[in-house]
Amino acid sequence: MISNDIQGIGMTSQRTRDRLVERLREKGIKNERVLEVIRTTPRHIFVDEAMAHRAYEDTALPIGHGQTISQPYIVARMTEILLENGVPDVVLEVGTGSGYQSAILSRLVPKVYTVERISALLQKAREAHRKLGLMNVFSKHSDGSWGWAPNAPYPAIMVTAAPKTVPPGLLEQLAVGGRMIIPVGSLGGVQELKLYTRTAEGVEEKTLELVSFVPLLDGAVK
Ligand code: SAH
Repeated sequence: MISNDIQGIGMTSQRTRDRLVERLREKGIKNERVLEVIRTTPRHIFVDEAMAHRAYEDTALPIGHGQTISQPYIVARMTEILLENGVPDVVLEVGTGSGYQSAILSRLVPKVYTVERISALLQKAREAHRKLGLMNVFSKHSDGSWGWAPNAPYPAIMVTAAPKTVPPGLLEQLAVGGRMIIPVGSLGGVQELKLYTRTAEGVEEKTLELVSFVPLLDGAVK
């Protein structure tokens, strides 16, 4: 049985979620599978109760520790881009945060690895994944700039915090043919969303759009 908590009422109801998906469609999200997963995944489970009534607005929201749950449009866009050449077997996400992005990925790809440097956030994200019964998300408390070596190489990597320059360790963990989507920038608050593709010869870089992410920081903390 689905509890009322997950199902949501009023500002967290299915109708409110349907409206969010319509907005994402208007903004240019085309992948129907991604839209359907966003429509049926409760985002209010990933924010504090005091924020739940805003969970289906297309905005980033605070999740504590100076961090944010990404804007649904960005979650949809990055997911759509990562999947546009087909569904990878595995995705590595750097920056678990609330766990929302990894929950969306987990319903589209067979296996998700996710790394978070703030232990308290990771505990909450794991709790949300448990609540939703997601069994294919594997998470680790560490500095994700170094990726997650034992499971590498990855056919897909998604970084949801912004470094000033691309961490070389992450590029090294990308399989040949693999794609990494990552916001990169040294200007305060604004970054370029970049797509890196590893080829047999090297790495191709493509700049997609301007985005705004919290910074990728060094080291793991409580
Ligand atoms: N994908 C998240 C977005 C969270 S914001 C979501 O769906 O909610 C980015 C997250 O990246 C923050 O939780 C922050 O603590 C984390 N982060 C920043 N630098 C990191 C690093 N080096 N390694 C792992 N996580 C990092």
